[in-house]
Amino acid sequence: MDETIQLQAAGLKKKFGAETVLNGIDLDVHKGEVVVVLGPSGCGKSTLLRCMNGLEAPTEGSIRLDGETITSGGRNITKQRQRIGMVFQSYDLFPHKNILDNITLAPVKVQKRSKAEVEQQAEKLLKRVGLWEKRKAYPRELSGGQKQRVAIVRALCMNPEVMLFDEVTAALDPEMVREVLDVMLELAQQGLTMVIVTHEMQFARAIADRIIFLDGGVIVEEAEPEQFFTNPQTQRAKDFLQTFTYEKRKTS
Ligand code: ADP
Ligand code: MG
Repeated sequence: MDETIQLQAAGLKKKFGAETVLNGIDLDVHKGEVVVVLGPSGCGKSTLLRCMNGLEAPTEGSIRLDGETITSGGRNITKQRQRIGMVFQSYDLFPHKNILDNITLAPVKVQKRSKAEVEQQAEKLLKRVGLWEKRKAYPRELSGGQKQRVAIVRALCMNPEVMLFDEVTAALDPEMVREVLDVMLELAQQGLTMVIVTHEMQFARAIADRIIFLDGGVIVEEAEPEQFFTNPQTQRAKDFLQTFTYEKRKTS
């Protein structure tokens, strides 16, 4: 990680009708940094990520990538969005296209790159996530964990500067969660700038350079993972972490 601010939210507010979902978010993500965003369901984590890659327009404030404002729907939005990759819970692969074609479609069509060059990169990335053998298979022939790894490769093949992950393992069977998280750990080690929303607390602790705890539309707590998980400063963070711990009920 270096000191360069790559992605920045400044005074970010987002309202849906009368509901204020984000109420003034200031967040600098540095080059090579891994920021994990935690918070209760409905607190605005997805909305924050969606604003970050221009899928939602801020009501107030701004998002900047390398100092350049991202304006949802603006003239440069397509270009900007290519620089910020996003992976969701649902991988949305095209069912009638094989894995390789699913991955190469956007780089060829949107980025106008040569098919041969993109395929070469796609195969290299597929090897890295252990799925090269599946390059000619169709999505229905893959497990959920494999499809999610393909979705990550598809995003990476656009050569983004930043990757956003929104609960990418939430819909997976437990035994497939690990293989997806391992890919993300490897990306972090290679210095990719990442913003991750996850409910996997051990993973969050392992991968994060910094934890952001969101509640009530604001950043309630911001800390290094060790600090956040062993010694949260706010009651709201304590209550949130409590929902992930189990204790034997005392019988008397
Ligand atoms: P989280 O990802 O933390 O669970 P979300 O960002 O998905 O939370 O949602 C935060 C709040 O914003 C919720 O109350 C949700 O209903 C509302 N919301 C999200 N997207 C929209 C939308 N497009 N239109 C109206 N309300 C929305
Ligand atoms: Mg969400």
